[in-house]
Amino acid sequence: MKKIILLACSFFVCFLVFCQSPAVDEVAVRGFAIAAPARDGVGRFVNFINEELAFYRINTLILRVDYNYRYTSHPELVGESALSATDVEQIVKACREHGIRIIPQINLLGHQSWAGTVGKLLEVYPEFDETPHVNLPENYEWPNPDGLYCKSYCPLHPEVHDIVFALIDEITGVFEADAFHAGMDEVFYIGDEKCPRCGGRDKAVLYAEEVARIRDHLSLSAKELWIWGDRLIDGKTTGIGMWEASMNNTHRAIDMIPKDVMICDWHYERADPTAVYFAVKGFNVVTCPWRKEDVAVAQLDQLLTNRKNATPEMRDRFRGLVHTVWTGTENFLDAYYSEKENEDKPDDQVTCFKTLFGAIRRVRGEETGTKRIRDRR
Ligand SMILES: [Zn+2]
Repeated sequence: MKKIILLACSFFVCFLVFCQSPAVDEVAVRGFAIAAPARDGVGRFVNFINEELAFYRINTLILRVDYNYRYTSHPELVGESALSATDVEQIVKACREHGIRIIPQINLLGHQSWAGTVGKLLEVYPEFDETPHVNLPENYEWPNPDGLYCKSYCPLHPEVHDIVFALIDEITGVFEADAFHAGMDEVFYIGDEKCPRCGGRDKAVLYAEEVARIRDHLSLSAKELWIWGDRLIDGKTTGIGMWEASMNNTHRAIDMIPKDVMICDWHYERADPTAVYFAVKGFNVVTCPWRKEDVAVAQLDQLLTNRKNATPEMRDRFRGLVHTVWTGTENFLDAYYSEKENEDKPDDQVTCFKTLFGAIRRVRGEETGTKRIRDRR
């Protein structure tokens, strides 16, 4: 009998301890990545933050700002109708009120052009172009003989970093950010053989050195670097290919870059289980879906399974999920508020957003849908 009482007592103590333990957040990063709005869309975007991001408990907002801000450090790089400091202040205030961490993004290294249009950096500083011999066509088509997807800047140009680091400092300052997203995805032009500085060098080393340079600059002010993960995955061996992984030998950079860089592991067509690869290598990782809700839900399942089965050392490297949107902010919000026919159905971004964050709410034990009856599925 004594034994039974003792056993019962110990179960009771365990129960009390369990109840008093702080809840572990299985989806610590609940992120959303989208382009910064145009000036005349700031008000609606702030409403979206106040109403929707807050409702879904989204706590991380990656904003692709690029040259859509009135930089005072480099006014020559300010895009048309760029956001003012006052516009940014409204976004920052809304996010602060809802505990949302803003991570501004400027695409560095790759994505310096889009289709037939050169980006602002290379427009103003054409000498930074890694492949000046490749002309942008009037009617862009993929594939093309130049293998042109987007232009890159030359990471070994002696003047490029003074400029981009000034932009980083200014944009993280105005957004009051403690992290910066440098993009660095889909870099097809790197170590071009005709580049007098990069030609003949190891592309993995060139990539890793550029990541480390940006990371080191940010660490001077205790800020974190976030990048997309595709260049660090071997596209050939995995079969993942040239978009969501690397076919130009940059993947060995995974063993050369600092471990405190946050990896945004994006997969849009399948739930490729590559987050494990990054976690095994010692990186914190977030998994990023786009517009397929079944993929997004499978990625959430993977996150929970990975965390459940991992060692304590590995578990918290699986940080969470970041839903990405790749149309203009205005288009996304038009579709979100049903102001315009959603053009990319059935695999649409709005449905994916609501399904994913609805599922995360259920995982975290939050009440479901009483305020958002229209979202019920
Ligand atoms: Zn170069």
